[in-house]
Amino acid sequence: MPGLDYDETTEDRAERIREYLGIGDDTQPDALVLIERMLNRRTITEYRIVEDETLQGAKALFDAERRAIIVTQSTSQGAMAGETNHMYPYFHEAAHAFLGHDHQRFFKGKVQFGRQTEQDEGDAHALALAVMAPYSRASLTENTKAEEIAIRFNLTDAHAFERHMVLMRMYRKRYGLARQLPEVQQFYNPLALNDPLEHEFSDAMVGWAKPR
Ligand SMILES: [Zn+2]
Repeated sequence: MPGLDYDETTEDRAERIREYLGIGDDTQPDALVLIERMLNRRTITEYRIVEDETLQGAKALFDAERRAIIVTQSTSQGAMAGETNHMYPYFHEAAHAFLGHDHQRFFKGKVQFGRQTEQDEGDAHALALAVMAPYSRASLTENTKAEEIAIRFNLTDAHAFERHMVLMRMYRKRYGLARQLPEVQQFYNPLALNDPLEHEFSDAMVGWAKPR
């Protein structure tokens, strides 16, 4: 997307994905509807629920070779119940699928984040949050708080805080407003997350995803 910065490029992709999936008007798109529509449109070819131990601490995985989204039982149960922290893994893996990521080539028996993998993770993360909480449905004002974003879009506090920063950055840019706070350099490092379960990678996962 020439001419658009990273935020706007991500937003544009998110809007097109939402339209494509027929969830353009939803403020809290359902994870299982997301999966069903991706299957219908052949964005993925398989959706599988596995026992929690199978993913050994991870919640979900996008298997690029099979174009499959695989989630644990507890994640799928949580998502069916609409639990906030169980929705994100679906959108994260969906983002990998839409971005055409191919994780497996980076797997070498141990978790290794090469430069490209880190970029992929950052892109998938940003896109997932944009699909879940798009600018167009955020009803932003100069005073919109992160808490409002969390409630409106059913995001965890941490994700709402992060997404709020991006949304307000876009808002200020679109309206030509001065920044009220210094811009924070966003860097998403999955290995630094407090909750490693938020992410699909683990040593065990790697072995499972690519049998050697
Ligand atoms: Zn990922």
